[in-house]
Amino acid sequence: MKLRVLDLGTVVADQGWSLMGAGAATQSNPRPEPVRRSLKLIATLIEHPKAGVLLYECGAAPKYQELWPAPVQDAFTISGYSDEHRLDKLLNKAGYEIKDVKGIIMGHLHIDHAGGLEFFRGHNVPIYVHEQELKYAFYAVATKEDFGAYLPHYLDPSFNWKALHGDRIELFDGLTLHHTPGHTPGLMTLEVKLKNSEPFLLTSDQFHLKENYFEERPLGWLIRDMSAWWVSLRKIQQIANKTNANLVFGHDPDILAKYSKEKYYD
Ligand SMILES: [Zn+2]
Repeated sequence: MKLRVLDLGTVVADQGWSLMGAGAATQSNPRPEPVRRSLKLIATLIEHPKAGVLLYECGAAPKYQELWPAPVQDAFTISGYSDEHRLDKLLNKAGYEIKDVKGIIMGHLHIDHAGGLEFFRGHNVPIYVHEQELKYAFYAVATKEDFGAYLPHYLDPSFNWKALHGDRIELFDGLTLHHTPGHTPGLMTLEVKLKNSEPFLLTSDQFHLKENYFEERPLGWLIRDMSAWWVSLRKIQQIANKTNANLVFGHDPDILAKYSKEKYYD
């Protein structure tokens, strides 16, 4: 099995979305300067000996400028998106075409992780997602209660959705999904066991940035269930400590730089 981490571009957003309390006014600093941080959009390509070419998440839609509402683009601004960040081109670089992808595992269904399903429209590729995420995402769009984080363009019944159930799912040999809610109700962390490298834990947005994990600092405005988030943190720490896993977070630029240096891990 081979794993490679893909750089799908950069999104710039206020740090308050990612870090609890960041930028809060205090008595000693009543007017803190707002800080917008560069976050990375990340997907992971897995070449599995039996299941074939798989993706863990797929970034934003290539036509995000047409599909994202203006207030969303204003808050979460994609910068410098070019061919080198297109998922289809990155697959080509690895020797594959879109049609070669045999399954897409969704950590969660927010627009910056699932919008890239547009590349797979009409291909009938199985899209593995936790049932709670699938239910919540369609509900969020239908009621407009969490509209913008999820968008209807890819929450489309014509895709080949495969709902997964439970707390721990062994999807394929060496690929285990852990239900880790908090950022969203159905977020799934993917554990990848490799032969020649330490395992990988792909956490999606349970952690945007390394501060969320290493400083145990909860997400900011993008947290949806604080107590669930802490339970998920402890669950991931327990697995990571036991297995000495490499951790890939949802948007951390340094972590992406670290793990995209190698062509692949096997
Ligand atoms: Zn995200």
